[in-house]
Amino acid sequence: MRSLYGSILALGLLTACDGALGDVFGDGGDDDDDGDDGGTGDGGGGGSMLSRDNYGDSSDRDGYVEVPVEVGAGTSAFLVTVESGSYPTLEALYGPDGDEVLYWEDWYDSDESLTSAFFWDGKVMALNWPVREQDGPLQQGTWTALVSTIDNQGYYEGNADVEVTTLTKADGALDRADVRVRIVWADGVGQDSAVVAAMEGAVERWREVWGAYGLNLVESYHESTLDAELGFVWNGSADVEANAEQFDGQELILIVGETYDGDGTLYGLAGGIPGSIEPNRYTYVSLSWLAHAGGNGTFNDDEIRLMGETAAHECGHFMGLFHPVESSYNYWDALGDTEQCSTWSSCETKLGDNLMFPYPICSYTSCEPQGELTGDQQGVAQRYIGSL
Ligand SMILES: [Zn+2]
Repeated sequence: MRSLYGSILALGLLTACDGALGDVFGDGGDDDDDGDDGGTGDGGGGGSMLSRDNYGDSSDRDGYVEVPVEVGAGTSAFLVTVESGSYPTLEALYGPDGDEVLYWEDWYDSDESLTSAFFWDGKVMALNWPVREQDGPLQQGTWTALVSTIDNQGYYEGNADVEVTTLTKADGALDRADVRVRIVWADGVGQDSAVVAAMEGAVERWREVWGAYGLNLVESYHESTLDAELGFVWNGSADVEANAEQFDGQELILIVGETYDGDGTLYGLAGGIPGSIEPNRYTYVSLSWLAHAGGNGTFNDDEIRLMGETAAHECGHFMGLFHPVESSYNYWDALGDTEQCSTWSSCETKLGDNLMFPYPICSYTSCEPQGELTGDQQGVAQRYIGSL
């Protein structure tokens, strides 16, 4: 759930979304089925389409850093990632001709959301551009992202060290992409054969949902010693970064844990809207298997389907998709073709089958399928740097 809009006071992730099902008990199990290193492999060199530049810098005395991005012929999208001990936020984006394309004040208090790069919500800023059809295609030349470093009181912090990474891709096709996802079992989860089987079923639902929009899921499974209680994700952590660094920095990472510190109502969390695939403290998507299995700790078919939709939804956030309407019904995405609504009943009627609806719509026994994306939502996901 997000509640940070219009406030500069709150820290924390923008990207939590939860559901309202279920209570929790039961344990993670100790079965012996080894689920690591399966999946369908590395996808045949799609990563070769990414170009990467990485360097250290520092903000000027007023707290600004200019990040140049070279856009060549064929470059279809870029991702700027800035990590710092302070709070890096996007101030503005300028095209090669010097035109201001984005300015933070136009979006900071808006009731529509385009990117979380403007928000003061963590020690990593990620900007994927373009987001929408109207934001592209990219003009060739040198773009400039103006990033500010903000201290923990909300003031500009001068002379702050930053690490900058720019990634560019040359994949302009918006109807088809391979999206590689590393599915990482938190400690012990991959030894629970029932959870592994449920996740494999969930992956097939996820593949079906994404496949309808040309997003080809290319997954692989990996063991880890990450804490199955997932508390390390709340504010990002070195554990998240170390986990991400074992892979090649060109894919999404989905961590499957038991619960978020015992909260049986929170299904999943993403490390940004968008998140950055460049390994950092927030390079994660995550889900709780036990929140899906519910109080009895075992999965039925509906719960497996819902877990697949959660994975697709949270990865959708990481790829830049906001909820079409927030669960307060007074904040929306910035897309033109997601239906407008402002009440509980009209939003559930118009958008309740959308993959990015903020919560599952459930009866006592099951939840409605949520797998739809609009053309504009498909475009956002296809423009993400990790869609290759
Ligand atoms: Zn969500």
